[in-house]
Amino acid sequence: NADTAMYHAKELGRNNSQFYTPELNKKVTARMALEQALYRGLMRDEFISYYQPIFEIDSKKVIGVEALIRWNHPEKGLVYPGDFIDLAEEVGVVIDFGNLMITQTVLQLQAWQAAGIYIHAAINISSKQFAPGHAERLVELVASELQKYNIPGEYLHIEITERVFMENTELVADTLQKLRNLGVRIHLDDFGTGYSSLKYLINFPVDYLKIDRSFIARIGDNDNARKVIKSIVAMTKELELKVVAEGIEEQSECEFLAQLGCEYGQGFWFARPVAVDELSLPSIKSGHKANADKANAI
Ligand code: C2E
Ligand code: MG
Ligand code: MG
Ligand code: MG
Repeated sequence: NADTAMYHAKELGRNNSQFYTPELNKKVTARMALEQALYRGLMRDEFISYYQPIFEIDSKKVIGVEALIRWNHPEKGLVYPGDFIDLAEEVGVVIDFGNLMITQTVLQLQAWQAAGIYIHAAINISSKQFAPGHAERLVELVASELQKYNIPGEYLHIEITERVFMENTELVADTLQKLRNLGVRIHLDDFGTGYSSLKYLINFPVDYLKIDRSFIARIGDNDNARKVIKSIVAMTKELELKVVAEGIEEQSECEFLAQLGCEYGQGFWFARPVAVDELSLPSIKSGHKANADKANAI
């Protein structure tokens, strides 16, 4: 009967759902519909980029932005990655996302530079895009877009998570090095939450650590969280890495991070992710390219 079938399906876990139940059937149907919608959305250019400014904590100056994908859904309105990125990873659409974010972002960098705005833009690239076949094309696309729009590589940053280090380690290290040879900077995102092994910091070339939001959120009420953050910041100094605190929502969090000497920060307290025309960015007037270079010597 249905109850028994449901029981078995649960027992077996979600990867072994060979028992039919109405509930499972509904889930499978919803998943398939979402997958179809993802492909349709791609074809109709429904995916766009929002940008969240990243600040130098001391000066409160914008040093860059993170590009974050949004789905401009014809019926549902603005849909956040939390609702579709996992499935996109599973079915491989996340690689199309990576490609379109690279193209859009480099184009945007060109528009900003034409307006005298010299900041970097960081994009999130899935570990899937570092697999054999994809990794080579990733480097080619980044190189050709930068060249096409005449953008120095250091204005494009790529955020990866620790997950990328789990497989194809040689190819991953090689790919990161090739990207860095183009001038591109590498951020290790969500630091401290993954299958963390500090070994990664010895074996892989990265430029920035982004301390995960979950640590920052506990600054106000958890002594261990504060100690972990303090240790991470100290470690980045020792390793000569740059450090960004993610998810700063309160002034007190910002002050604590400033005291530790955490250089950069990002979070709703500073600014939320917004569409490009809602961003307010510092413009460095033409004729002051030297200042721009100095401001961006990061
Ligand atoms: P992430 O790369 O760690 O990006 C930061 C996320 O934290 C963003 O969520 C941002 O809106 C949110 N955030 C920033 N400041 C605060 C804060 O003060 N409080 C809170 N509560 N949240 C804050 P978003 O845009 O929903 O993206 C979620 C995740 O989806 C990203 O986490 C990233 O892993 C993934 N993602 C976003 N865009 C892309 C993309 O273009 N490609 C890929 N592969 N993944 C993406
Ligand atoms: Mg990120
Ligand atoms: Mg993150
Ligand atoms: Mg909080």
